[in-house]
Amino acid sequence: MRPWLNTLLNTLLPSRCPLTGEIVDAPGLLSPNAILKLDFIASPHCACCGVPFRFVYGDDSGHEEMECASCIAQRPIFHQARASLVYDDHSRKMILAFKHGDHLHMEKSLVPLLQRASAQMIEQVDFIIPVPLHWTRMIKRRYNQSALLASGLARAVAKPALLDGLLRTRHTESQGHKNVKERHKNVHNAFAVQNKYKADLKGKNILLVDDVFTTGATVNECAAVLYAAGVLRVDVVTVARVVKSFDAI
Ligand SMILES: [Zn+2]
Repeated sequence: MRPWLNTLLNTLLPSRCPLTGEIVDAPGLLSPNAILKLDFIASPHCACCGVPFRFVYGDDSGHEEMECASCIAQRPIFHQARASLVYDDHSRKMILAFKHGDHLHMEKSLVPLLQRASAQMIEQVDFIIPVPLHWTRMIKRRYNQSALLASGLARAVAKPALLDGLLRTRHTESQGHKNVKERHKNVHNAFAVQNKYKADLKGKNILLVDDVFTTGATVNECAAVLYAAGVLRVDVVTVARVVKSFDAI
């Protein structure tokens, strides 16, 4: 839909929640019933990748330090990753509406979720950087959803964002139907740090922003090029993350 038509309709028609269709106060807001449907990630979770532990054996102590089996088997390149929601039918609907449905005003609901997920790590962050899109995909989609989220988060937490801090140096296929190995191969050597920021990034703490954490292949590649450029620490925040049933132990 044309942006001006969208704006006109938004002023004429009541705003509706993208998940339940209920009338809400402003475009992009979720209704209370929609919020109740979302599966929020809370402690205990993996200290490294943030995957929630559904069941924890023993007493309640020491869970903050616990890591999941997959992080113990192969430590991710990034330092820590956090997400607010489990990626399920409800959060998927919300994120896809933002990503492909031109519901850009949904930033109002998504940025607070990033803020919640990054609350423990935000203080030491020097720069917020989005996972980049290749320019060909950018033309097709007209915007990079991760850059919109990164800039919204940066405003909300009063931290600087480098929206073009990372570049996608080659077109990569959609990660959608790929397995873990294929996903890593697909994004290998696909990113680079913008030359003009290299001096600024040395010794700094970076928060990478994306919409969904699936296997971590993309953010790991981004973290690798940032570390190679002399960055001290790379953390990751996403709105939602995939949780496989065998993760949740
Ligand atoms: Zn983990």
